[in-house]
Amino acid sequence: MFDINHIRAQFPILNEEVNGKPLVYLDNAATSQKPISVLNAWEEYYKTINANVHRGIHTLSQLATEAMELSRQKIQRFINAQHDYEVIFTKGTTEGINLVAYALTNQIKPNDEIIISYLEHHSNIVPWQMLCERTGAKLRVIPMDKSGILQIDVLEEWLGEKTKIVAVNQVSNALGIVNPIEEIIEKTRRLSNAYVLIDGAQSAPHFKIDVQKLDCDFFVFSGHKMYGPMGTGILYGKESALENLQAFHGGGEMIAVCSFEKTTYAGLPFKFEAGTPNVGGNIALGAAVDFIENIGHENLQNHENDLLNYAQKKLLEIDGLKIYGEKADRTGVVSFNLEGAGIASDTGMILDKLGIAVRTGHHCTQPIMDFFNIAGTVRASFAVYNTFEEIDILTEGVKKAQRMLV
Ligand SMILES: *Cc1c(COP(=O)(O)O)cnc(C)c1O
Repeated sequence: MFDINHIRAQFPILNEEVNGKPLVYLDNAATSQKPISVLNAWEEYYKTINANVHRGIHTLSQLATEAMELSRQKIQRFINAQHDYEVIFTKGTTEGINLVAYALTNQIKPNDEIIISYLEHHSNIVPWQMLCERTGAKLRVIPMDKSGILQIDVLEEWLGEKTKIVAVNQVSNALGIVNPIEEIIEKTRRLSNAYVLIDGAQSAPHFKIDVQKLDCDFFVFSGHKMYGPMGTGILYGKESALENLQAFHGGGEMIAVCSFEKTTYAGLPFKFEAGTPNVGGNIALGAAVDFIENIGHENLQNHENDLLNYAQKKLLEIDGLKIYGEKADRTGVVSFNLEGAGIASDTGMILDKLGIAVRTGHHCTQPIMDFFNIAGTVRASFAVYNTFEEIDILTEGVKKAQRMLV
């Protein structure tokens, strides 16, 4: 049974008022709110077992280690990884992608090719540009059509011996478009030996993820966008792919033996977890996984689809409102502009006065904005606790903005 009131009751922040109005939080693609169970897991850790992990013989250190490793196993099951040591704790998607891009450096030669798509977040563009600068490799970008649909036929021509990495997101944060990653992975496997990295920052909060079925080499996501704490994230890597990577950060925790002459590295996952991790955050991320699984993926996805369809229908009733990527398969996001209403942030400011939190601007995806020849959009993005009434409030707010601005 899906009980929206029961779900909302778990999020204290949803009772807050903003500018004298009940909060309508529709900026979930930037970060989601956190349920009590996640807050409690974090607080419990600090109140009862705070200690550094993996190094202490004393009881608290062992309890902290056990709790964090239990969380790693929850995440392993959440994404159906084969082994728990294929799950690396990071501080977010950005760090995960940078880790892989850096640690691949010695496998890339001049004129090798890295393929990304037009629909990427800056954090799945810039680390690859930096890798190209270090190595002389070339970046190729899968084009998209006017509906925001990736033109993946080019891959038949592009993929080959030179291709070393294909890195794409599963869901676009700017437009909510669901990309055909299964086909992209299939083509990559058939036509090259390239690694595949999936940016799952916007899919892990919404979809059931199965990294073995997908057959990707790397899958990265952020804890804070899926009801977990800020400063948490996951890099999944297939064992063989992770074994082939150079180390990233050097330091404590990641060594087997360290001397001034030579250092040998620890095995997975510790090779990629140098230094003291965010123990409380990583434990609380496990609680976020429990929260999603208690609701159930099917319930969650059905509700979010209903919200998206309803929002799209209501917003399109407004004359002069354009939704970007309207015709594409989408999840969780409507990204739009009001004709003649000036810059998106003007609309955002009026909505804020009404207690409605949306994102405005380029959403860390300037190439997409350039493609549509706009400076930015207004983006409303949904989570499992959002309601149809909130979408009505949004629609009325947008109408008010139109009356004031156009
Ligand atoms: C948010 C986001 C990122 C960056 O995630 P951080 O948590 O800021 O590191 C990367 N890709 C996509 C698609 C995102 O939505």
